Amino acid sequence: MIFVRVKIPYPFLDFENLDLRIKKMGADLVGFGDVSSGLASEFSHIPKAIALGIKYPVFEVDIRTPHYFLNRSFSIDNRLQEIQKKVAAVLRNNGWRALPIPPDSHRENSSFIARIYHLFPHKTAATCSGLGWIGKSGLLISQEFGPRLNWATVLTNAPLMLNSHPVTSSQCGNCHCCVDACPAGAIRNVLWERKNSYEPLIDVQRCFAQLQKNKELYGYFSCGVCVMVCPQGVSKQKSK
Ligand code: SF4
Ligand code: SF4
Repeated sequence: MIFVRVKIPYPFLDFENLDLRIKKMGADLVGFGDVSSGLASEFSHIPKAIALGIKYPVFEVDIRTPHYFLNRSFSIDNRLQEIQKKVAAVLRNNGWRALPIPPDSHRENSSFIARIYHLFPHKTAATCSGLGWIGKSGLLISQEFGPRLNWATVLTNAPLMLNSHPVTSSQCGNCHCCVDACPAGAIRNVLWERKNSYEPLIDVQRCFAQLQKNKELYGYFSCGVCVMVCPQGVSKQKSK
């Protein structure tokens, strides 16, 4: 019997269906974007991003009396990290580079990757992937679930099917729910545009002071009123 060694064409990953594959791993939103513009030089060899989002569980909030909302979910972030690891393994096993950027709640650990976190915000990956915009609240807003998601990113050099319509401006329109509801008056009612990305959307000091106040009042360094009141995607979130 003669055995013929068949060389599998390289790469053999099905990039057309990669988003579905990642959703099966547990992500609610998946997008692929070119983030090469403005990328820190440390990452120039991995200029494409996979943006991953997992939505918060459905919750009911009485927006007439919002106090705070703990929007840092370690359980969601742990799930995001598991998905990141799987995605990175799939890419690396196919010969591509992959660097998972950890979710927000892992910022404060002392690992190497957490220390370079500030070089690449998840908002860049998600907007370049067409998954959302930066709202008046400074939060990433998706059409499907508003700001009620946690995010993670995998940077890579793989030939992803990149989104051709990156989001470059706000879609908040005339809405000002978060501006009116912010207990600190920290949201400036400014519409985000990528070209003006240095224009501050919120007064960070006022927001920080509110978080401090909530810690004294309720024991949590958190606010999140702007997360709770955003009407974007509420109906879809409840129906899924
Ligand atoms: S977290 Fe609270 S204080 Fe800060 S911007 Fe949002 S609503 Fe305002
Ligand atoms: S509440 Fe309205 S203005 Fe604020 S981020 Fe959401 S959509 Fe934009």
